[in-house]
Amino acid sequence: MWENFDILVVGAGLSGSVLAERYAAQGKKVLVLEKRNHIGGNCYDYLDSSGIRISKYGAHLFHTNDEEVHEYIHRFSQWIPYEHRVLSKVGKKYVPLPVNIQTVNTLFGTALQTSAEMEAWLAKQRVDHHSPMTSEELGLSRFGKSLYQKLFLPYTQKQWQQHPRKLDASVIGRIPLRLNQDDRYFTDKYQYLPQKGYTSFFEKMLSHPNIKVLLETDYFMVKSQFEMLKKKQHPFSLHPFEKIFYTGPIDQFFEFQQKLGATLEYRSLRFEEEWHTLTNERSFFQPAAVINHPSLKTPYTRTIEYKYLTKAVNPDATFGGKTVVMKEFSTSVGEPYYPVPTTRNQSLYEEYRKQATQLADQGIYFVGRLANYKYFNMDQAIKNALELFQQLEQP
Ligand SMILES: Cc1cc2nc3c(=O)[nH]c(=O)nc-3n(C[C@H](O)[C@H](O)[C@H](O)COP(=O)(O)OP(=O)(O)OC[C@H]3O[C@@H](n4cnc5c(N)ncnc54)[C@H](O)[C@@H]3O)c2cc1C
Repeated sequence: MWENFDILVVGAGLSGSVLAERYAAQGKKVLVLEKRNHIGGNCYDYLDSSGIRISKYGAHLFHTNDEEVHEYIHRFSQWIPYEHRVLSKVGKKYVPLPVNIQTVNTLFGTALQTSAEMEAWLAKQRVDHHSPMTSEELGLSRFGKSLYQKLFLPYTQKQWQQHPRKLDASVIGRIPLRLNQDDRYFTDKYQYLPQKGYTSFFEKMLSHPNIKVLLETDYFMVKSQFEMLKKKQHPFSLHPFEKIFYTGPIDQFFEFQQKLGATLEYRSLRFEEEWHTLTNERSFFQPAAVINHPSLKTPYTRTIEYKYLTKAVNPDATFGGKTVVMKEFSTSVGEPYYPVPTTRNQSLYEEYRKQATQLADQGIYFVGRLANYKYFNMDQAIKNALELFQQLEQP
């Protein structure tokens, strides 16, 4: 069985699927191992019996400025323009996120109108840090004390279970600030949702006859089988494939060595589903697709009403008057979602990375967000996989 394939891909998420598709298109026989019972990784979604499309691992909004990524994804799906909006609930008020002029006016009763006025207001609030190292320093120097304390300090504590002063500046650094009235969550040139959902997009990507996908197959449970084969056929190689692309957690790959003896930390999410029946006067349960809940008194961090997203691609659907709101609770157990950027994790990752780099000589490559211990948006995951393919096959 193993000898029939040129390329082994571990993980049928975005990174693995792009590489599988690229190699299959070049005539290579590709085997994809996926330990879950579905393809798509964390982008996996499904239609509920009400007709609402739900993302099993949290809402996914596609956005990119990259022309190559834009062109590539259109080979496998039609995409519907969708501009995402997020509100943050502070007390009884809902304010736009990222912070813009309206956020400040609503929270602090100001009447700012221009970017210059917004800039002047922020200048009075800001606490200067020339090169912010922690998320607290960055939050105070970018947003000022009042916004930091109302929005970012409690939310970050709840999401990461750590004080922002213990987290790398990149955590709050990902949150933009608008000096105008723009209330879109993303400002990228291309923003959209796949018309038939992400799972259908992955099905098309993996539909090439040269690709075989084995679900519910953990690489670590089967690798001894091809290692036996390797001993007979390629005594000096670690495996019988031309190349292996590993998209699982990097520490798990090296776990068997026990040399570093430590695992990298991740934050995960637990979801709680709440169904509501809507009246004729009310089309949605909450005022935006996503509401952030910074208050420490509310145990969840976000609520997502998936009907907004399904309605955007299917405007005529009625969903039997129902809607679903998914509450997200931050947790340290469960699927690995967000790498925790502390000094300890970053230096441990660096040790793993050095070992991983050496395996390139054996045709083993580490790809994607888990193998790089780095948060990637979908377009970044696609771009990285495409660039690796180009680097290896079209130098
Ligand atoms: C809650 C959440 C919301 C997000 N929202 C957005 C968004 O709105 N917009 C955006 O651009 N990006 C978003 N992202 C990021 C997006 O999910 C990632 O960019 C994308 O999933 C990365 O793909 P990947 O293939 O690298 O990783 P993954 O999707 O995690 O895929 C890795 C796959 O490998 C499999 N695997 C791991 N170990 C093994 C093993 N030993 N054997 C076999 N299979 C294995 C896993 O089961 C998984 O299917 C979000 C991420 C999360 C967690």
